[in-house]
Amino acid sequence: MKSHQELNSLALRTRRQLGEDGYSPIDIFALVNGWTDKKITVVRYPLSERISGMCTRVGEDVVICINSRSSNGRQRFTMAHELYHILYEDKMDRVICGMSFSGNKSDSEKEADQFASYLLMPYDALLQYAERFKTWDLKNIIEAEQFFQISHMAMMLRLQTDGLLTEKDASKYQGITVSREASKLGYSKDLYMPLPENRQYFTTGEYIRKVEKLSEEERISDGKKDELLLDSFRADIVYNLDEEEPDLND
Ligand SMILES: [Zn+2]
Repeated sequence: MKSHQELNSLALRTRRQLGEDGYSPIDIFALVNGWTDKKITVVRYPLSERISGMCTRVGEDVVICINSRSSNGRQRFTMAHELYHILYEDKMDRVICGMSFSGNKSDSEKEADQFASYLLMPYDALLQYAERFKTWDLKNIIEAEQFFQISHMAMMLRLQTDGLLTEKDASKYQGITVSREASKLGYSKDLYMPLPENRQYFTTGEYIRKVEKLSEEERISDGKKDELLLDSFRADIVYNLDEEEPDLND
């Protein structure tokens, strides 16, 4: 199994490839959707509770499926986890990843989890962030997970892995409803919630670009284009739904 140092280095390398520095929070969905040379299609789909995500490679094309029933924080973590399988595992054709962080996990799954944690929150980034306070109490934990936009569970595991929080101290915060605690500190609950049901089926990235290109080159009819977009849950494109008001949402 790769060491934590190696996985942190890979995470930093990936950030560099994406044009990101080693300290800032990243918008992982926007970065992956726009990573045109990797040809990645992202499908958000409500999967079984036991599955966090899946990825499949067919030739040059990659499909990442994210369980949209999980919280936004967890979806971001899953996206970073799936990237590890795609970028750093040669033999990967099809992987299905479990929701649980614990249990009997393969080295590949453990590595992907650790990589995801470092991609969203590099080792030095967390240390530098923690310079502003003395102890990892619940308020500081929530502020940090909000800053890096990482799930509460992933943050708690990371603090223990890096030796910043003892198991005993971590156990004090078990049983709390983190979204309520975050609300009291003035944050929205979005990080801890899934998407609304009407956004749980959604495709972005390479597939949409391919359909648009085929249509532009007149290799498919307008009807076929609409059909392909509807197949990928993009009625919003076909029917111009959710069009933003000019100026208002820019
Ligand atoms: Zn996995």
